[in-house]
Amino acid sequence: MTGANPIRAGVVGWPVAHSLSPYLHGIWAARAGVPAAYDAIPVEPGYAAFAESARRLESEGFAGVNVTLPHKENALRYVLERGGAVSEGAAAAGAANMISFGEHGPSADNTDIEGFAAALFSALPPNDPRECAVVLGAGGAARAVVLALSKLGYKEIVIANRTRARADEVASRFGVTVIEWTRIGERLAGADVLANATSLGMKGAPPLELSLEPLRAHAAVADIVYAPLETPLLSAARARGLPTADGLSMLIHQAIPAFKTWFGAAAVIDADLRARLEKALAESEDI
Ligand code: NAP
Repeated sequence: MTGANPIRAGVVGWPVAHSLSPYLHGIWAARAGVPAAYDAIPVEPGYAAFAESARRLESEGFAGVNVTLPHKENALRYVLERGGAVSEGAAAAGAANMISFGEHGPSADNTDIEGFAAALFSALPPNDPRECAVVLGAGGAARAVVLALSKLGYKEIVIANRTRARADEVASRFGVTVIEWTRIGERLAGADVLANATSLGMKGAPPLELSLEPLRAHAAVADIVYAPLETPLLSAARARGLPTADGLSMLIHQAIPAFKTWFGAAAVIDADLRARLEKALAESEDI
């Protein structure tokens, strides 16, 4: 925290102590010379606890909060119940990861969509074809990934999820194609992008067991998992020389709109920022 009257913001989740967001916003605030206090705010699961906490934070003068698991759907519901503005992305995803507390009440946004789109875009080769993208997962993050791919112009989006019913739900909401979880390999030869939006590969979770052999040489591989930073999926893609986008890149990009909105300053991504976050991530992985 700097200054006597900092602009207050934070990230609400459960658990949330491990979040990199306070460190990331702290770096940007220090660079911009903005008096900012961005905290990790644990709020136990359930809508009642979330709504109570959102009201309290608003009354305490918070500029806004980012929202992570398990509260992204609660965040959207809260803003809708308060009659606040909801962005197109948050409405489409059915979830919000950013609430701003303005003069006219709260508003909701989903910046995971632009976060994933920007992270993937920065990895894509020039003149990349956008015929087909394969997405693994059907949870909250997968919805943002599907919306991002659709914004980037992929003509066909194919999803696979361990629990088929959840994939069917996403398909009926977004008009994408569903394939069986066990048949992902069959669609890789035609894919321009493979995106992992499951928690497989995350520290403490099983790895994603999938041969990347069928992917063509231009195909990009994106993993939204960021702990560890180098997931087995990304290692395999890099070993094949494929372009890759990692979860840290998405995490940084999704934070930019919140920083600009609440703290009113530029949020620049450069090698120094990336190196500091990688170091913080590596240190937290050692715990
Ligand atoms: P979620 O709603 O709980 O969804 C989890 C997904 O992972 C579901 O599709 C689930 O399949 C799948 N999954 C979990 N364990 C599996 C297993 N053993 N085998 C196959 N599939 C499995 O979580 P989420 O919010 O979408 O988050 C997913 C991941 O994205 C997390 O690791 C989260 O940290 C990361 N994330 C990263 C960013 C970023 O900025 N980089 C942003 C958001 C989320 P079922 O439906 O079959 O359970």
